[in-house]
Amino acid sequence: MGANVYPRLVIDTGKLKVNAERVIALCAEAGISVAGVVKVAAGDPKLARVVADAGAAQIASSRLRQLVRIREAGVETPLMLIRIPMLSEAAAVVRAAEYSLNSDIEVLRALNAAAGAAGVVHNVILMIEIGDLREGVWLEEEYIAIAREVEHELKNLSLAGTGTNVSCYGSIVPTPEKLAEFITATERVENAVGREMGIISGSASTAFARVIEGTMPKRVNHIRLGEAIFINRDNEDLHGLTVPGTYRDVMTLEAEVVEVRVKPSHPIGEIAYDAFRFQPTYEDRGNRRRAIIAVGKVDYAFSELLTPLEPGVTVLGASSDHTLLDVEDAAHEVRVGDIMKFELDYGAEVFLNSSEDIVKVYR
Ligand SMILES: *Cc1c(COP(=O)(O)O)cnc(C)c1O
Repeated sequence: MGANVYPRLVIDTGKLKVNAERVIALCAEAGISVAGVVKVAAGDPKLARVVADAGAAQIASSRLRQLVRIREAGVETPLMLIRIPMLSEAAAVVRAAEYSLNSDIEVLRALNAAAGAAGVVHNVILMIEIGDLREGVWLEEEYIAIAREVEHELKNLSLAGTGTNVSCYGSIVPTPEKLAEFITATERVENAVGREMGIISGSASTAFARVIEGTMPKRVNHIRLGEAIFINRDNEDLHGLTVPGTYRDVMTLEAEVVEVRVKPSHPIGEIAYDAFRFQPTYEDRGNRRRAIIAVGKVDYAFSELLTPLEPGVTVLGASSDHTLLDVEDAAHEVRVGDIMKFELDYGAEVFLNSSEDIVKVYR
């Protein structure tokens, strides 16, 4: 599609390269290798290649189909499936990915059988639960038993290491103390199998905060980073931690204005539910100049996660295909046909990348 098609995501591959290189260099100084997680970019192979060339040890995604596309595009960096595999995809996993994160012995046995049939050795990371309550083995006797079986009986698997995940379901912070619990569990696994783990994968972008601060437990030698490379906003906005020289605007959204009118700011009539059955509240600020842009929640899900680049513009809300802006105090007089630009947080960017109706333009 042509360059003047909207709405579109403008993707600055130069900024992505800088972010990836800086983040990977900082981790390297701390003895930590990086799996570049590309699911926020819907596994875009062009962007996976940028992250691979920046020195990622693996390219990772939660979705196998994304990894398949990345390999088909010629990326040779080892691929890592980071959503624990479905039993039904075991054969596809060992063909498409060199690594997977795992927490279930039945799935591991299926991966072992599939790897044997495919004539490959598949690398597995054993996920250990430390309290976020998503994937991972919680009980010591269970992760020890799984590690022993993988190590001694599942000959087509290699126990490449251990991993943990936080800040996803349970909103748990990867404090040094929490990560120390993961190291303790890892050392129990090491004692049980009689050797050190190669990969000790200490979670994702929220744990990158520990690298920035220099408080990552020493034995963590691997991290899986998506947000910190592609978006780079959470550690700064939520914890005041930044990496000098990195960018917060690798991707920006551009959308076109389709209506501008002065209207009352409070809806007129009996108020019940919006298009998504929520009950928002509306502030009465009198008559205001407002603009509609042609992009909506179907594209980005969360209008709160769009930050207008033009001073004085605020996002009022949205329905499926329309986004409402207050442009009364905008820096310029907004007109139909104007293009409005936005920076994005994770929750919006992941949807925009996945939407077929959003054109991608690379810079
Ligand atoms: C999504 C995900 C990551 C990467 O998360 P970011 O916050 O984008 O860095 C790492 N590990 C697992 C298991 C994931 O699902």
